[in-house]
Amino acid sequence: MARPRAFVLWLACNGRLATKDRLRRFGLINDENCIFCHQRETHNHLFFGCHTLKDVWLKVLMWLQVVHDPKEWHEELPWMMQTCNGKRWKYAFLKCAVTETMYHVWKHRN
Ligand SMILES: [Zn+2]
Repeated sequence: MARPRAFVLWLACNGRLATKDRLRRFGLINDENCIFCHQRETHNHLFFGCHTLKDVWLKVLMWLQVVHDPKEWHEELPWMMQTCNGKRWKYAFLKCAVTETMYHVWKHRN
């Protein structure tokens, strides 16, 4: 059974999502603007440098009552890896929230 959420998370963690900067580098597209804010779409921008998407991530964190100031992906990934290893139920929800947020950001972007 396909698990698209886990697959998107795996792709993101390995820097393999087909973001616009990568597609442009391969000559597949000309427009590399973020659909949410029109800045250059890179992996770091999409997760969560984009101010629109950063707001989404902030609301998810607030809903979970996690105090954290989101940064771009290269800083968020180590934070997520460290924080999601916690034993409390809150961290299990955080793992789900990370997976769901990334999946829906990617799905909406497409
Ligand atoms: Zn943006």
